[in-house]
Order: sequence, then C-alpha cells, then structure tokens
Amino acid sequence: MIVDPEFKRQIYETLLHEKVNYCYQCDRCSFNCPVHAETPAYDPRQNILLAITGINPVSAENRLAIFGCTVCDTCDEVCPNDIPLTHIFSILKNMAAAKNICPDSFKGQGKAVFDNGTAIPMNPAISRRRTAMGLPEKYTLPVDEVKAVMKATGFDKLLSQLTIEAKKKPEEG
Ligand code: SF4
Ligand code: SF4
Repeated sequence: MIVDPEFKRQIYETLLHEKVNYCYQCDRCSFNCPVHAETPAYDPRQNILLAITGINPVSAENRLAIFGCTVCDTCDEVCPNDIPLTHIFSILKNMAAAKNICPDSFKGQGKAVFDNGTAIPMNPAISRRRTAMGLPEKYTLPVDEVKAVMKATGFDKLLSQLTIEAKKKPEEG
C-alpha cells in the first residue's frame, strides 16, 4: 500500500487530522464493531491507522476494506478520543465510488433511490405487510424532490459513470 495524496489532502483539509492524530490504537472501535465481529478482515482501527499515514485502504481487489462498514455509528460512540470514524470512512467511500470501485449492490441502491426515491421500491411483499399492519397499501414519495437533490449534489453524474460489473461481463458468469 502506498500513500494516496488525494486522500491525505481530503483528511487534512477537513481538519480531521486534528482529531485523527489522537488515535492511540486502543482498538475499542474494532472491538465494538458488529461487522468486525463477524468478518475480522474488516477492521476500523486498521483503517484509522492508515488514515493517519494517508494510505487509502480501498482497492479494486479489496472493496470490503471500507464498504463493509454499515454506518451504524457504534465506533463513533465508543471512541475515547471523539474521532469521527464514519466521516473518514465516508470520504473513502466517495473516493472509491468516483473510481468506480464500489460494490455493485451500492451502485444498484443509488440508482434505485434516484429512480424511486427509496432504496427498496414498493413491491407486493411490502404492500401485504403494510395492509397487515393496518397501513395504506401504498405510499407516495417525493421522487422529483429526491432527484432534484441528487442532481444538485452531482450524484446523478456519478451514477451515470458507474458500471454494474456483473452486467458488464456476462460471459464470465
Ligand atoms: S477507538 Fe478511537 S482511539 Fe481507539 S483505536 Fe479506534 S479510532 Fe483509535
Ligand atoms: S460505523 Fe462501521 S466501522 Fe463503525 S462500528 Fe459501525 S460498522 Fe463498524
């Protein structure tokens, strides 16, 4: 792994270095991370150690390195030094997405939100459960407003650049 100047610049420009340098590798973040408990290869403490040095842990071969995080925020809560781990991980995820190295599932969910205003569009199973709970069978979402926000933030352009690799290489399946 090598130092990623762009990642280091973003970490320092957002002033995160003032906090991230206080990490003394106590491991409370990893010890309490539910993803790390099930998948030890995903290690938030290790990611913070790399962030201090400016090394970007994400690669096309190792997307789990950062996309394994479910943003449950447990690590932010337990860090004794108030280090904004999930903020740092968001920077990494955005940088990886810009290079088209995020998992297909993330790309699909981003497209679903853009098209439907929600990551899980209405379907018969949801309608059945809503009816069983006494809710209206369907709900309406402000899809146009969601699209406007996504366009204003440039997310629509990012989506158009992402390729779903499982579809790109059907002959390899
Ligand atoms: S809990 Fe905070 S101080 Fe401890 S290793 Fe994790 S980031 Fe560093
Ligand atoms: S926010 Fe991510 S890294 Fe932190 S505890 Fe939750 S899954 Fe683990």
